[in-house]
Amino acid sequence: MKTYSIAIIGAGPSGYFAAQALQNLETDDQKYTIDIIERLPTPWGLVRSGVAPDHPKIKTVSKVFEKVATAGNVSLFGNVEVGSDISLESLKDKYDAVILATGSSIGKKLGIPGEELSNSISAADFVPWYNAHPDYADLNLDLTSDTAIVIGAGNVAMDCARMLAVDPSELEPTDTANHAIDALKSSKIRKVYICARRGAEFAAFTSPELRELPDLEHTNVVISKSEIEGAITRAGDTPEKHTKSNLDAMLNIANNESHPHERTMEFLFQHVPTSINGNGKVESVTFKTPEGEKTINCGLVISAIGYTPKEAAGVPVESGKVSNTDGFVGENMYVVGWAKRGPSGVIGTNKSDAADVMKLLVEKLPATPKEKFDLGASLDAKIVTQPIWEKINSAEVSAGEPLGKPRLKAVSREELLSLGER
Ligand code: NAP
Repeated sequence: MKTYSIAIIGAGPSGYFAAQALQNLETDDQKYTIDIIERLPTPWGLVRSGVAPDHPKIKTVSKVFEKVATAGNVSLFGNVEVGSDISLESLKDKYDAVILATGSSIGKKLGIPGEELSNSISAADFVPWYNAHPDYADLNLDLTSDTAIVIGAGNVAMDCARMLAVDPSELEPTDTANHAIDALKSSKIRKVYICARRGAEFAAFTSPELRELPDLEHTNVVISKSEIEGAITRAGDTPEKHTKSNLDAMLNIANNESHPHERTMEFLFQHVPTSINGNGKVESVTFKTPEGEKTINCGLVISAIGYTPKEAAGVPVESGKVSNTDGFVGENMYVVGWAKRGPSGVIGTNKSDAADVMKLLVEKLPATPKEKFDLGASLDAKIVTQPIWEKINSAEVSAGEPLGKPRLKAVSREELLSLGER
């Protein structure tokens, strides 16, 4: 029997789905030992630090990750950073194959004047801030104006807008970071615009997310009926299924009566941002619209227009993806998930994607496996193993229980590591 050693860098959804695919590809004659290396003291990637806290159902996929992690052939090496704690080159040298599952964490830039003004931020910073990611807890955010503008028409834009527009009491029973709930409680923002550069027929939202908006208890959701009727006409008689269900959901919102809520979330379509204006700090955004130029006053701008992978030594990035052919990067290195395809698809998309790449990886393995490498022995870092992570996890869940939250997230690395020592 042959046993190959595989390193997966990144303990997010695509990393776990890659491990699961390898488990499914095992035969009596060929096995895999899998080391998952994660720079944070916590695994689960975007399921922990990306998915909106008011969407707890999406997070139940973490049960699948834990099943993969405890199946017997997987070891977690959390709090270990490739590049500083161990080099990519040495991983390539010691393992039969190395899989990059590092996602896409840098927010794309609008490239318009004023983007660098204070309080013009990226969703790539705002989302991990409200999700208690250790690296974003100190985000400098001013919520003292009455209006915020979110640029982009995808689900991330919608998450950001909803987080700003709901009554913070609705976030109490969620795992939103405490620092974010406190900041949102004192927020003066009452109007949030989501601005799409094209018509509603091109919006990248998905319809389940649109359909839940009328259920918001304390927020008016406003969409212009004439915009949606125009989009329906422009989409023609045989729109794609996704377009039709989005337009149906938006028409439903447009037809809703307005409520006397203090908070409003309004969708604006065909608004191409041309500049962010202000003296040192955001004061307004100017758009090109079919009716001409339009400027909307606001004190906060969040751009949610997509992501690109972080550049790292030895990892070629091109057009927002790690350069690859069907997941093969070169030598014994592979890539899965957003780092492979770009930032698209829901969490489940990574499952079939990783399965295809792992099939290719297994086909390309050399005839003889390398000798098993003891990663733990070669590291100085305080490693978060699976049992340590389980302690952190149950400490967070227990702390959340009396507060009616699914978990109370620890934020700093030190706090997380100390939970694992109890
Ligand atoms: P996305 O779905 O690709 O949407 C990006 C949006 O940004 C598009 O509306 C795009 O408009 C717009 N945009 C791009 N460049 C722009 C520019 N220069 N100026 C103005 N607008 C610009 O990306 P995302 O929202 O980051 O989401 C990433 C993936 O995660 C998606 O597949 C999404 O569905 C998924 N996700 C899912 C959930 C969920 O299931 N609940 C939650 C969050 C994210 P154009 O179309 O005009 O380019």
